[in-house]
Amino acid sequence: MGRLVLMDLDNTLINRNGAVTDWITDFSAARGLSAEAVQALSAALRERATPDTFEGMRSTLGLAEPAVELWDSYVAGLASRVVCAPATLSRLDRLRAGGWSVGVLTNGATDVQQAKLTATGILDRVDAVCISEEIGARKPEPEAFRVAVARLGGELPDDVWMVGDNPVTDIAGARAAGLRTIWISAGSGWSFPVQAPDHIAETAVDAADFLLELPETSR
Ligand SMILES: [Mg+2]
Repeated sequence: MGRLVLMDLDNTLINRNGAVTDWITDFSAARGLSAEAVQALSAALRERATPDTFEGMRSTLGLAEPAVELWDSYVAGLASRVVCAPATLSRLDRLRAGGWSVGVLTNGATDVQQAKLTATGILDRVDAVCISEEIGARKPEPEAFRVAVARLGGELPDDVWMVGDNPVTDIAGARAAGLRTIWISAGSGWSFPVQAPDHIAETAVDAADFLLELPETSR
Protein backbone atom coordinates (compact mmCIF):
# COMPACT_ATOMS: atom_id res chain seq x y z
CA MET A 1 0.00 0.00 0.00
CA GLY A 2 1.15 3.58 -0.64
CA ARG A 3 1.90 6.08 2.04
CA LEU A 4 -0.95 8.04 3.61
CA VAL A 5 -1.17 11.63 4.82
CA LEU A 6 -4.10 13.59 6.18
CA MET A 7 -4.11 17.37 6.07
CA ASP A 8 -6.12 19.89 8.01
CA LEU A 9 -7.75 22.61 5.86
CA ASP A 10 -8.17 25.86 7.81
CA ASN A 11 -4.92 27.69 8.52
CA THR A 12 -2.99 24.68 7.24
CA LEU A 13 -3.69 24.43 3.49
CA ILE A 14 -5.49 27.78 3.37
CA ASN A 15 -5.44 31.00 5.36
CA ARG A 16 -8.93 30.88 6.86
CA ASN A 17 -8.26 33.71 9.30
CA GLY A 18 -7.32 36.07 6.48
CA ALA A 19 -10.40 35.21 4.42
CA VAL A 20 -12.71 35.64 7.44
CA THR A 21 -11.15 39.02 8.27
CA ASP A 22 -11.56 40.17 4.65
CA TRP A 23 -15.18 39.04 4.60
CA ILE A 24 -15.96 40.80 7.88
CA THR A 25 -14.37 44.02 6.59
CA ASP A 26 -16.43 43.99 3.39
CA PHE A 27 -19.66 42.86 5.07
CA SER A 28 -19.36 45.46 7.84
CA ALA A 29 -18.63 48.27 5.39
CA ALA A 30 -21.61 47.31 3.22
CA ARG A 31 -23.91 47.30 6.28
CA GLY A 32 -22.39 50.30 8.00
CA LEU A 33 -21.83 48.24 11.15
CA SER A 34 -20.49 49.93 14.28
CA ALA A 35 -17.06 49.13 15.66
CA GLU A 36 -18.73 47.18 18.48
CA ALA A 37 -20.73 45.13 15.98
CA VAL A 38 -17.61 44.38 13.96
CA GLN A 39 -15.88 43.22 17.13
CA ALA A 40 -18.82 40.98 18.05
CA LEU A 41 -18.88 39.49 14.57
CA SER A 42 -15.12 38.83 14.66
CA ALA A 43 -15.41 37.12 18.02
CA ALA A 44 -18.33 34.97 16.86
CA LEU A 45 -16.55 33.84 13.70
CA ARG A 46 -13.02 33.50 15.09
CA GLU A 47 -12.91 29.77 15.77
CA ARG A 48 -15.60 28.44 13.48
CA ALA A 49 -19.00 29.37 12.12
CA THR A 50 -22.26 27.55 11.56
CA PRO A 51 -25.75 28.71 10.53
CA ASP A 52 -26.48 28.97 14.29
CA THR A 53 -23.71 31.54 14.63
CA PHE A 54 -25.64 33.82 12.31
CA GLU A 55 -28.93 33.16 14.09
CA GLY A 56 -27.23 34.49 17.21
CA MET A 57 -25.72 37.47 15.39
CA ARG A 58 -28.97 38.65 13.77
CA SER A 59 -30.26 40.31 16.92
CA THR A 60 -26.84 41.51 18.07
CA LEU A 61 -26.25 43.21 14.73
CA GLY A 62 -29.84 44.24 14.03
CA LEU A 63 -29.88 42.44 10.68
CA ALA A 64 -33.21 41.83 8.96
CA GLU A 65 -32.39 38.84 6.75
CA PRO A 66 -33.07 35.28 7.88
CA ALA A 67 -29.99 33.59 9.33
CA VAL A 68 -29.93 31.15 6.42
CA GLU A 69 -29.46 34.03 3.96
CA LEU A 70 -26.64 35.48 6.05
CA TRP A 71 -25.05 32.05 6.21
CA ASP A 72 -25.31 31.58 2.44
CA SER A 73 -23.67 34.94 1.82
CA TYR A 74 -20.90 34.04 4.30
CA VAL A 75 -20.28 30.71 2.54
CA ALA A 76 -20.11 32.36 -0.89
CA GLY A 77 -18.08 35.25 0.49
CA LEU A 78 -15.46 33.03 2.09
CA ALA A 79 -15.21 30.81 -0.97
CA SER A 80 -14.51 33.84 -3.16
CA ARG A 81 -11.88 35.25 -0.78
CA VAL A 82 -9.93 32.18 0.25
CA VAL A 83 -6.92 31.03 -1.75
CA CYS A 84 -4.58 28.08 -1.64
CA ALA A 85 -1.08 29.22 -2.57
CA PRO A 86 0.17 27.80 -5.89
CA ALA A 87 3.19 26.32 -4.06
CA THR A 88 0.86 24.46 -1.70
CA LEU A 89 -1.26 23.12 -4.57
CA SER A 90 1.86 21.95 -6.38
CA ARG A 91 3.04 20.09 -3.26
CA LEU A 92 -0.25 18.18 -3.18
CA ASP A 93 0.44 17.14 -6.78
CA ARG A 94 4.02 16.18 -5.94
CA LEU A 95 3.00 14.11 -2.95
CA ARG A 96 0.54 12.14 -5.04
CA ALA A 97 3.06 11.77 -7.86
CA GLY A 98 5.48 10.48 -5.22
CA GLY A 99 3.14 7.69 -4.18
CA TRP A 100 1.32 9.36 -1.32
CA SER A 101 -2.45 9.23 -0.91
CA VAL A 102 -3.57 12.61 0.38
CA GLY A 103 -6.74 13.27 2.36
CA VAL A 104 -8.23 16.40 3.91
CA LEU A 105 -9.66 16.04 7.41
CA THR A 106 -11.38 19.21 8.59
CA ASN A 107 -13.76 20.24 11.35
CA GLY A 108 -16.61 22.38 10.13
CA ALA A 109 -19.94 22.69 8.38
CA THR A 110 -20.10 20.69 5.17
CA ASP A 111 -21.29 23.46 2.84
CA VAL A 112 -18.69 26.05 3.75
CA GLN A 113 -15.77 23.59 3.84
CA GLN A 114 -16.86 22.06 0.53
CA ALA A 115 -17.16 25.53 -1.03
CA LYS A 116 -13.63 26.42 0.09
CA LEU A 117 -12.18 23.11 -1.12
CA THR A 118 -13.79 23.59 -4.53
CA ALA A 119 -12.94 27.29 -4.96
CA THR A 120 -9.27 26.80 -4.07
CA GLY A 121 -8.76 23.80 -6.35
CA ILE A 122 -7.78 21.56 -3.44
CA LEU A 123 -10.70 19.22 -4.11
CA ASP A 124 -9.19 18.24 -7.48
CA ARG A 125 -5.82 17.49 -5.91
CA VAL A 126 -6.65 15.10 -3.08
CA ASP A 127 -7.82 11.51 -2.86
CA ALA A 128 -10.41 11.94 -0.10
CA VAL A 129 -12.17 14.63 1.90
CA CYS A 130 -13.67 14.24 5.37
CA ILE A 131 -15.69 17.08 6.89
CA SER A 132 -16.75 16.64 10.51
CA GLU A 133 -20.41 17.53 9.97
CA GLU A 134 -20.67 15.02 7.14
CA ILE A 135 -18.87 12.14 8.90
CA GLY A 136 -20.45 12.77 12.30
CA ALA A 137 -17.16 12.92 14.17
CA ARG A 138 -14.82 15.81 14.97
CA LYS A 139 -11.10 15.97 15.54
CA PRO A 140 -9.71 15.19 18.12
CA GLU A 141 -12.11 12.21 18.34
CA PRO A 142 -10.28 9.05 17.17
CA GLU A 143 -13.31 8.18 15.03
CA ALA A 144 -12.66 11.19 12.79
CA PHE A 145 -9.13 9.95 12.03
CA ARG A 146 -10.34 6.37 11.59
CA VAL A 147 -12.92 7.38 8.98
CA ALA A 148 -10.45 9.59 7.11
CA VAL A 149 -7.80 6.86 6.97
CA ALA A 150 -10.43 4.39 5.78
CA ARG A 151 -11.40 6.77 2.95
CA LEU A 152 -7.79 6.65 1.79
CA GLY A 153 -7.99 2.87 1.76
CA GLY A 154 -6.00 2.41 4.94
CA GLU A 155 -6.64 1.05 8.38
CA LEU A 156 -5.09 2.20 11.67
CA PRO A 157 -2.54 1.50 13.01
CA ASP A 158 -1.05 1.81 9.52
CA ASP A 159 1.74 4.32 9.25
CA VAL A 160 -0.21 7.52 8.59
CA TRP A 161 0.82 11.17 8.98
CA MET A 162 -1.38 14.08 10.06
CA VAL A 163 -0.50 17.68 9.19
CA GLY A 164 -2.27 20.51 11.00
CA ASP A 165 -2.01 23.80 12.88
CA ASN A 166 -4.09 22.98 15.96
CA PRO A 167 -2.09 21.45 18.85
CA VAL A 168 -5.14 19.77 20.37
CA THR A 169 -7.45 18.74 17.55
CA ASP A 170 -4.77 17.98 14.94
CA ILE A 171 -1.69 16.96 16.90
CA ALA A 172 -2.88 15.47 20.20
CA GLY A 173 -5.92 13.97 18.48
CA ALA A 174 -3.93 12.33 15.71
CA ARG A 175 -1.30 11.03 18.13
CA ALA A 176 -3.99 9.46 20.32
CA ALA A 177 -5.42 7.77 17.23
CA GLY A 178 -1.97 6.36 16.40
CA LEU A 179 -0.85 8.71 13.63
CA ARG A 180 2.46 10.53 13.27
CA THR A 181 2.19 14.29 13.31
CA ILE A 182 3.51 17.47 11.73
CA TRP A 183 2.53 20.73 13.37
CA ILE A 184 2.20 23.84 11.19
CA SER A 185 3.83 26.49 13.35
CA ALA A 186 3.50 29.62 11.17
CA GLY A 187 6.79 30.57 12.76
CA SER A 188 5.90 30.17 16.43
CA GLY A 189 7.38 27.73 18.92
CA TRP A 190 5.72 24.68 20.46
CA SER A 191 4.53 25.66 23.96
CA PHE A 192 1.47 23.56 24.62
CA PRO A 193 0.66 21.18 27.48
CA VAL A 194 0.45 18.20 25.15
CA GLN A 195 3.19 15.98 23.75
CA ALA A 196 5.18 17.63 20.99
CA PRO A 197 4.61 16.60 17.36
CA ASP A 198 7.00 14.33 15.47
CA HIS A 199 7.98 17.27 13.30
CA ILE A 200 7.40 21.02 13.16
CA ALA A 201 7.06 22.82 9.81
CA GLU A 202 6.43 26.50 9.28
CA THR A 203 4.02 25.97 6.36
CA ALA A 204 2.19 23.20 4.55
CA VAL A 205 4.80 23.50 1.78
CA ASP A 206 7.56 22.76 4.30
CA ALA A 207 5.56 19.86 5.69
CA ALA A 208 5.12 18.35 2.24
CA ASP A 209 8.81 18.78 1.47
CA PHE A 210 9.66 16.97 4.72
CA LEU A 211 7.39 14.07 3.77
CA LEU A 212 8.78 13.94 0.23
CA GLU A 213 12.30 13.64 1.62
CA LEU A 214 11.54 10.94 4.20
CA PRO A 215 13.70 7.88 3.68
CA GLU A 216 11.72 4.82 2.62
CA THR A 217 12.27 3.06 5.95
CA SER A 218 10.66 5.79 8.04
CA ARG A 219 7.68 6.26 5.76
MG1 LIG B 1 -6.68 24.36 11.27
